[in-house]
Amino acid sequence: MDIEDRVRSVRERVAAAAVKSGRAPESVALLAVSKGHPPGAVREAAEAGLKLFGESKVQEAKAKIPLCPGKLRWHFIGHLQSNKARDAAFLFEMIQSVDSLAIAEVLSKAAVNAGKTLQILIEVNIAGESTKFGYHPDSVRADLARINSLPGLEIHGLMGMAPWTPETERARPMFRKLKALHDECSGCLGAPLPVLSMGMSGDYEVAIEEGSTLVRIGTALFGGGRYPISPAN
Ligand SMILES: *Cc1c(COP(=O)(O)O)cnc(C)c1O
Repeated sequence: MDIEDRVRSVRERVAAAAVKSGRAPESVALLAVSKGHPPGAVREAAEAGLKLFGESKVQEAKAKIPLCPGKLRWHFIGHLQSNKARDAAFLFEMIQSVDSLAIAEVLSKAAVNAGKTLQILIEVNIAGESTKFGYHPDSVRADLARINSLPGLEIHGLMGMAPWTPETERARPMFRKLKALHDECSGCLGAPLPVLSMGMSGDYEVAIEEGSTLVRIGTALFGGGRYPISPAN
């Protein structure tokens, strides 16, 4: 299968999962995770119709994005260190992985300095794994209003990752909890949050059935990655 076939296949499965849960196929955005893949792979994916791409390392993205077609939209999905916030604010339309008030404050300053409004998602550690980044589900509410008041940032919703498992049904309760927290946060802010980012290559259909509006797909589109530009984050 070439990338065009894989894009078609993922799109069909996304649409089927949306329809199964009573939603329009267009209600789920497809973000192509290009980490570990060269600009040529991004170009092929763009030619196959993809417009939204995700990177998890600022260094890699900084080297790669200028070599990719213009007009693509880029989201940051990895753990962000404060010394990379300035570059991230320039490179990305959205930071999906805001996991502390401290990084939100640094991003706010960077966005204001860059003269732009940066979209953000709050990352939630839905599995409670100590090896993963993200807010503990019980801590999100406490910081939500503070983050919402920061200039230069616009909260669009939540992001979460389920641990990999061959039995995708195991991810369902975690996705369901994240959706409930997402709805609660919308209530707290008094405005509907448009983005719930959950679902990866192994579990995106279940995530869509549980309310995901954005799936982050790497392996199912590009295969395994082999392009480490830099080991640095
Ligand atoms: C790598 C990555 C993905 C994509 O994972 P695949 O299993 O390859 O689809 C999605 N989200 C985040 C945060 C990632 O780091």
